[in-house]
Amino acid sequence: MSLGLPQDCYGTPDIERFVKTLSGEHGTVVTAGTDASERHVTPGPDGRVNLTYVLSFDPQVMDGVAYGPNVGPRHFHVAGCQWLLRMGDPRQARPHVIELKDAPKAWRFYSTLGSDATRTEATASYEALSSFAMGGGAGGFEPFQVQGRPVSVFIDGAFDRPVDDIFAAIRRIVTAQRQTFGGAPPPFFHVVLRPRSGVIAGTAVDNAFICFAKKDISPRELHLILAHEMFHTWVPGQLDIALDPSEAQFRHQWFSEGFTEYLARQLLVVDGLMSMNDFAALVNSDLINLADNPHRDATHAAIVSVAKQGAFNAAAKKLAYYRGALIALEWDFQLKAKGNPQGLAALIKELAARVAGAGGTLSESAFFAHMAAQGIDARADFERHIVRGEPISLSPGVLGPGFTFRNVAVPAFDPGFDLELSLKESAIKGVLRTGPAFRAGLRNGMKLKSLRNSNRFANGWRADLPLEITVDNQDGPRQIKFFPRGASRQLRLLQALPPGQGASRVDTEKL
Ligand SMILES: [Zn+2]
Repeated sequence: MSLGLPQDCYGTPDIERFVKTLSGEHGTVVTAGTDASERHVTPGPDGRVNLTYVLSFDPQVMDGVAYGPNVGPRHFHVAGCQWLLRMGDPRQARPHVIELKDAPKAWRFYSTLGSDATRTEATASYEALSSFAMGGGAGGFEPFQVQGRPVSVFIDGAFDRPVDDIFAAIRRIVTAQRQTFGGAPPPFFHVVLRPRSGVIAGTAVDNAFICFAKKDISPRELHLILAHEMFHTWVPGQLDIALDPSEAQFRHQWFSEGFTEYLARQLLVVDGLMSMNDFAALVNSDLINLADNPHRDATHAAIVSVAKQGAFNAAAKKLAYYRGALIALEWDFQLKAKGNPQGLAALIKELAARVAGAGGTLSESAFFAHMAAQGIDARADFERHIVRGEPISLSPGVLGPGFTFRNVAVPAFDPGFDLELSLKESAIKGVLRTGPAFRAGLRNGMKLKSLRNSNRFANGWRADLPLEITVDNQDGPRQIKFFPRGASRQLRLLQALPPGQGASRVDTEKL
């Protein structure tokens, strides 16, 4: 019978190369399969298949794969698909016992399958187990309780910020979200922070949130990803807009991602973990991100066809995040202006409670009807901004009297060479003689070794840091750095008013 070696559903290419040994026991015979990721096994005389295998992940290779196994001398983290073998029907539930043997005494361990990571039992399919996570380490560990349920935080790796500050922030975020949005908390919950160079990546799985972050992640970046991912417990976990099976899976990501982002930010402000100026800066980055997004005017149908061509990249995906967060901000403002002091957060909480018995989903028409009853023409906004891709304009007083809109010249993201094609061909392509890449010394045909800060629509991208390109020369690697800034456009961005000038200045802003 055929035996599949691990296959990483989180994107590590050819993860089977890290299987160092694989052998049959008690008469089980293992022979080569049709390719590197397959083996052929013949059961032993008792009709059973007994196998022993060893996986050893190279920490340096893994550091280049955002969601790959996260390993180091003092910690590890793996997802099920990164180490489980594949046999038979991947959808068939089978009994599993997972034990940690001879584990270092001083380490702390976690599993998303159960509260005792050293031994878990589960009757589940390969598919169901592919995203379950386990790990351990000698680093920081802090348990606490919220609403009578245990939450455990595991931090490994070196971060610039003191670990105690990170523990305190996580505790505040989990506690504030649960106290504000309520609902039944999971029986146990793990928050895991692991090191990964140059990225900020998170994955929310049942009973846990796992975050991979660069050493210099700022408090704002860390709070945001934690708050965003953990808020998914409520949206879409407890409230989502139902999807017709014929519709693209991302049709309502403006809600499930955009509203999550907005409400997560808002709660950080309420809880004192984010200033209003930082909040305004994030609204501005939504506006700039949209202006830089090649799909900014795309209709829903156009994005569906992009996805059908297999070109649904980070830019296409993030469109819904930016649009949704801006729509949420505008609706929140309108709700409050119509005499709903609690605004959007209260409305979402109330809707989630209402659909708790109905699988946590609401039909599109029921959602629009509920919003209409609060005075928000949600259907019209959805059709305008999501279906037809028309720009979103924010009301002048959307952030209160302390902020106003100003036209600001912002350079467009434009590296001046064909980034995507260069990556695909591992060689520099499409350098424009008038662009910033040419001025910095980049030339067509140079061998591309690596890039830093190039992924414009990734969480970790920084506008204030240059794009770094390492190319291979005859005399060795050469680093070329420049800001990927093209022609400037006028964007309408929020600006804080000096204290005391709020109200009068906003009046004059109503142009
Ligand atoms: Zn999300």
